[in-house]
Amino acid sequence: MISFDGRIALVTGGGRGIGAATCRTLAQHGAAVAVVDLDDDPAEAVAEHIRAAGGRALALACDVADRGQVESAVERTVAAFGTLDLLVACAGITRDNLLFKLTDEDWDAVIATHLRGSFLVARAAQRHMVAQRYGKMVFLSSTSALGNRGQANYAAAKAGVQGLARTLAIELGPFNVNVNVVAPGFVETRMTRATAERLGIDFEQYKAQRAAEIPLRRVGQPQDVANVIAFLLSDAAGYVSGQTIYVAGGPRG
Ligand code: NAP
Repeated sequence: MISFDGRIALVTGGGRGIGAATCRTLAQHGAAVAVVDLDDDPAEAVAEHIRAAGGRALALACDVADRGQVESAVERTVAAFGTLDLLVACAGITRDNLLFKLTDEDWDAVIATHLRGSFLVARAAQRHMVAQRYGKMVFLSSTSALGNRGQANYAAAKAGVQGLARTLAIELGPFNVNVNVVAPGFVETRMTRATAERLGIDFEQYKAQRAAEIPLRRVGQPQDVANVIAFLLSDAAGYVSGQTIYVAGGPRG
């Protein structure tokens, strides 16, 4: 049985999709949650949902690619709740294109959000985790880290996140901080809906096509990923660090 009673969590990209499901799941298990998102409105909606269910939550608008905003979000979380125990780096975007059409801007935006964003929030969070000799971090990678046509920027960022986590697991392990990665396959969120729109395919048809290729014959839901994140943040996974778990309905998804 997972319990986060008394634990303080910060989830980037917490306003939508996998991040929002993660915020709600951590709160259901007793954590106070800082819901961090680029936009205030989705973050506030998730925080309000948690508070309405009797939990503790704080909405914070923050661009994870901006060092000042990230450090401020971590400090405001600590000021509100006392410390920071659990970190989930979920903020993400896609800017897909084949290499010959991939612009500098689309490369930089994806690397900045996923890779720089994970680095910045991990560096800001570790100060508190190392000082208290307790912390858990989970970063979001993807099956695209293994290679995916039209996603050179995203695949590079998501492979980079795995290397970042393995290295932080080595550096922070002596301070009782675990760092792990969850790598989803196809999950039904606004991100995959946007991909279907870009390809000009009806979303229901796109999901059915993708489900047919997945060994478990269904696309993932945000809750499927949130459950694994919660496990990795829990003390039940206290001896797991530096690992990447694919949550893809099969070995690749
Ligand atoms: P989503 O529904 O689009 O949610 C992504 C969230 O990240 C949004 O709330 C978005 O804010 C926020 N965000 C984007 N850029 C940000 C920034 N610079 N600073 C702070 N927040 C930012 O996507 P999702 O599918 O849940 O994806 C969550 C994570 O899982 C991402 O890292 C993604 O790469 C990864 N993932 C997803 C899938 C999938 O199939 N869905 C598969 C593998 C991995 P706004 O609402 O303001 O845009």
